Order: sequence, then C-alpha cells, then structure tokens
Amino acid sequence: MLIVQKYGGTSVGSVDRIQTVARRVAKTARDHSVVVVVSAMGKTTDGLVKMAEEISGNPSRREMDMLLSTGEQVTIALMSMALQELGQPALSMTGAQVGIVTEAEHTRARILHIQTERMERHLNEGKVIVVAGFQGISDREQLEITTLGRGGSDTSAVALAAALGADQCEIYTDVPGILTTDPRIVPKAKLMDEITCDEMLELASLGAKVLHPRAVEIARNYGIPLVVRSSWTDDPGTRVTSPKPEPRPLEGLELVRPVDGVEFDADQAAVSMLRIPDRPGIAARLFGGIALQKLNVDLIIQSIHEANINDITFTVTQNCYNRAIAVADAILPTLGRNDDPELGEPEVRGYEAPIAKVSIVGAGMIGRPKVASQMFRTLAEAGINIQMISTSEVKVSCVIDAADCDRAVEALCGAFDVRQRSPETAEAADRSDSPPVRGVALDRNQARLAIRYVPDRPGMAATLFALLADSNISVDMIIQSQRCQQIDGILTRDIAFTVSQADAAEAQKVLEAAIATWECGELFVNPAIAKVSAVGAGMVDSPGVAARMFEALAAENINISMIATSEIKISCVVDEKDAVKALQVVHEAFGLSGDEAVIIPSPATVS
Ligand code: ADP
Ligand code: ASP
Ligand code: MG
Repeated sequence: MLIVQKYGGTSVGSVDRIQTVARRVAKTARDHSVVVVVSAMGKTTDGLVKMAEEISGNPSRREMDMLLSTGEQVTIALMSMALQELGQPALSMTGAQVGIVTEAEHTRARILHIQTERMERHLNEGKVIVVAGFQGISDREQLEITTLGRGGSDTSAVALAAALGADQCEIYTDVPGILTTDPRIVPKAKLMDEITCDEMLELASLGAKVLHPRAVEIARNYGIPLVVRSSWTDDPGTRVTSPKPEPRPLEGLELVRPVDGVEFDADQAAVSMLRIPDRPGIAARLFGGIALQKLNVDLIIQSIHEANINDITFTVTQNCYNRAIAVADAILPTLGRNDDPELGEPEVRGYEAPIAKVSIVGAGMIGRPKVASQMFRTLAEAGINIQMISTSEVKVSCVIDAADCDRAVEALCGAFDVRQRSPETAEAADRSDSPPVRGVALDRNQARLAIRYVPDRPGMAATLFALLADSNISVDMIIQSQRCQQIDGILTRDIAFTVSQADAAEAQKVLEAAIATWECGELFVNPAIAKVSAVGAGMVDSPGVAARMFEALAAENINISMIATSEIKISCVVDEKDAVKALQVVHEAFGLSGDEAVIIPSPATVS
C-alpha cells in the first residue's frame, strides 16, 4: 500500500516534533511505502513574509516564491535526517527535484503535472521520500520556482497522491480532524467522522483553513481517499468522502475540466422586498414567516443600496409563490416607514413571469474566476439577461427568464463541452443522510465591493467579472439589485460582491478604470467586514435553515449587510466587530457544539 502523509507547520515546529513525526512515519514505513510532504517549521513562512514586507510594500512575486519556498526545504532535510537516525532510509526532494510542474503564476500556481519516475524508483528501494510542500517549478527548462498559495502543502500532498496512484492521503495537523468550526473561536466545536468533498470544499473556501480548498478539489476529482488527523494521537480523525469520479487525465492535473455538467430548474418564482430598513432582525422575521409556512426557499440575496435601506429577493417553487407573497405582504406593515422620504417606502414585488435557474456544476468555481466569467459571457452572447447570480465552489447559478432556459442550457453545454445533468440523480441520493448544516466558517479577510449605478445593459456582469477574472481575482456573493434607478436618463442597477482583502486594491484599480469609461457608476470598498457561512448538503431539503441563521444573528442584534445563498451554503456579511460573536451564535443555533472543549496542544505538552 502507498500512503502520502502531510505534516503541517505546527506538527514540525521544532526539532523535537520533527523527531516525533519521524517515529510515526518510520512506523508506517514498516508495512507500507510512504511519501511524506512537509510544511515549513512553525510560523516560518509568516516570518519570511514579514521580512519581505519590511523591504517592500509590493515585492516581486517571483522573489516572494524564491523566498517562501526556502521554509519547506529546511524541514525536508531535517525530517530525512531524523528518519535516517531511526534507521529508516529516506531521501528529501524539493518540488523541482520531484518535477512538480506548475503554471508560471507566481505565488498562486496551479499544478500541471508531476513526474513520478524518480520517486517510484526510490520507493522501490525501500526509501521514504520527503517532499517539500507548497512549491513547484514553472518550466522544466527555466526551472523557475513557484509556490501554490498559502496553505498549499495540503494541495501538494493530494496532488502527489493522485499522480502516484496512492491508496490514501493523510493530512496530519494540530487539531483532531475536521470540526464543525474553528476550535480556536468555538472551543466546543465537534469532531466529524466524515464530511463530503463538496461540503469540505465549501467550508475550506469560506475560511476553514484546516484544508486548502484545492486539495479537496483534487481529492474529489481523482477520488483520492483523504483523511485529516491529529499529529499527536492515533485517533482516526475525519474522512473526506467523494463519489466515484469520472476518469480524467493526470496531465493538466489542476487545470482540466472544472465544470462537470449543466443543470436547470424551470419551476421557480421570485419575490422581492424592496427599500426595507437596514436594521437587525428583518431577514429573520421574513424567513421565520416563510419557514412557518413550510415554504422551501431556494436562493436568497440581500444587499445594501442606499445609506440605510436594502432589498431582499428570494426564489421559491412556483406552487409556493402565492403563499410567499402573502408572508411578505403580512410583514410589510410591521416594518415602519423609512426615515428619509426621498428613499421611498418599503414595497413587496413579485415576479410572476416564470423564471428558471441554470447552473454549471463542478468543483473549484470560486477559486477559478474565469469559469463564472465564461458563464456570464456565454449567456450575454446568447442575448440572455441575468436576473440573479448565486456562486459557490461547486455550482454557479444564474436566474433567467424561463423562456430562455433551453437556449441557455444549450449554449452552456457548448461553451464548457459538457452534458446536461438531471439534478435529481446521484447527488440527491448522496445527501439523503446529510444534516442540514454540517459546519460553519468565518472569513475575516474579505472586503465588500459595491458598484452603484451600473448601466443596465446586457453583458455588464460579464464585462465586470471578466475584468476581475483576467486579474485572477476570485469573487463571491455576487448580488445585482432587482431595482433599477434612473440616473440622468440612464437605467442603472447596483452590483455588490466580496473579494479577499489581498485582492481588494487590485480589484479597485481594475474596476475604477472600467467605470471611468461608462456614463455613470461609482465604486465603494469596505474592508471592515466579515463573512459567516453555514454549509451543509442537506440544507436544500430542510426549510427554515436560513431563518434559523438570521434569527440567531438578530437575537444578538447583529446586522446583516449582505446575504447570498446557494444550495449548499448560506453566507452573511456582517461588521468586522461582530465577526466572532456571529460565528459563535450561528454554531450554537444549529446545535453543533460537542460536550467538551477541543484541546489544541501547546508546544510544551507535545514532544
Ligand atoms: P497546518 O499547519 O497543519 O496545515 P493549519 O493552521 O493550516 O494547520 O490548519 C489547522 C487549523 O485550522 C486549526 O488549528 C484550526 O485553528 C483551523 N480550523 C479552522 N476551521 C477549522 C475546522 N472546521 N476544523 C478544524 N480546524 C479548523
Ligand atoms: N508553509 C506554507 C504556508 O505557511 C504552506 C503550508 O504550510 O501549507 O502557507
Ligand atoms: Mg494548513
């Protein structure tokens, strides 16, 4: 049996710990072939980043890779020595020596190909191979060093497992496995025995840094059995499960076929509450009412427009439409009037014309901004207007006029070279025993960008997101206002979305240049936000999940400034100051806590 084991920074944070890990590896190597992937020791990578920042506010990305890749090289040499001391033959290899070939995108390269011959030869000689995680080379001739992005050693490990056809990939870290949330914020977070790849992909991309999202993506795509466990105990940890994958080539490993299929649902209707006061508790009241009626809501979006009012729009199946409107109508009089009469009064608006949701399905959509951008472009070129957008790592959906549905599906199947899938297939069977919410995550490194007064022409979303995709900027929670405003005789809408704070300045630059060429438009950036999300494959089948989340936030008087949902997640943007509390109350609201606090060993307690 061939096993790939990855040990993270804390697990190899001192010489003592490296020796502890070496003993564990040597034990496994008695019965199996082992490839070990290691991270830099402790917080080494952070220290290197800090030094670079002392020299330059904007260091060359090539030099950053040259610098950051050194951390892992220290660990591989020490780990190999520790193994040899135990009498276990071992050999350290850098990414370049293995032949982990990546794109030339410094600081966030994707893996294209991994050479396995040399590793296989040494494995056959009975050696343990110790590979530096997080790094590769862009080109077999130029030998440019690249890195995969922070946290990327997990991705190195799973990619090596795929390339070598390993039987299992084990990620060893400082917590007992994958928990319902980060135990550093919620000490009573509960360990899961297993989680589906789709759910984990979502959690990882929404802030659960226990696994790098791209590692989960590769495990899913190649069907690699993946386990996350503690470095300090023999407990089994968490299994990340995936359905049997379609065969795919190893060439272009992280690049091939991000989209598996196209789905549609033509049985949808939408309801909006427009110009409602922006204060805690309104979404809770609305969706509490909807849940009482047992209406199953599909997509929900909410975004701030003017100073202190916002709009909420949601979709339901057509047979629920009248009842949904009735709930919204009943709530309307309880909202009071807006302070500023200029803003207009709250209003319920229904969209009776049938609408359809078309989706592209796959893995790693948020991490690959070009995919969503290509979807918007394809629809724009077919002359199809997008009314609502919902993004997640496993699905990008657009709500369109039902009359355009067939054309949209055909155009998307053509653009991504995939077939139409029926949504009620394997996936539905898969999620039959999934809890509505498997885990919750917090991302404090996001910024909210809002563009007001975007001219309402077909293809504007396509243009905007193509610009961001060209700069490789991942976008989440894309919300277009349902309401139009006349500015100097031009019909306009607002578009808001979130990007990572690291990308905010670049996004601002790119968008401001574009807006300058329009008749109108204004960009607002707010980095003082946090995104809390609840994830679970079972939530599609359980009404009331959204209401419970909004009610939990409302009970703490936490205002939600943006809401975006997909079938597998609900994300809310809250003020940065409310971030921790928000995560804690949402975790509590779904009853996810265990009986005991998770113990994260401190350096003194582990040897
Ligand atoms: P490593 O150095 O081993 O790669 P990381 O620090 O990258 O470790 O990831 C492990 C950390 O992820 C944990 O210490 C924990 O604080 C954090 N974390 C965030 N969300 C979760 C979660 N849902 N389950 C477990 N750990 C989580
Ligand atoms: N050392 C790298 C980092 O800190 C990669 C990793 O640990 O996964 O981001
Ligand atoms: Mg990590």
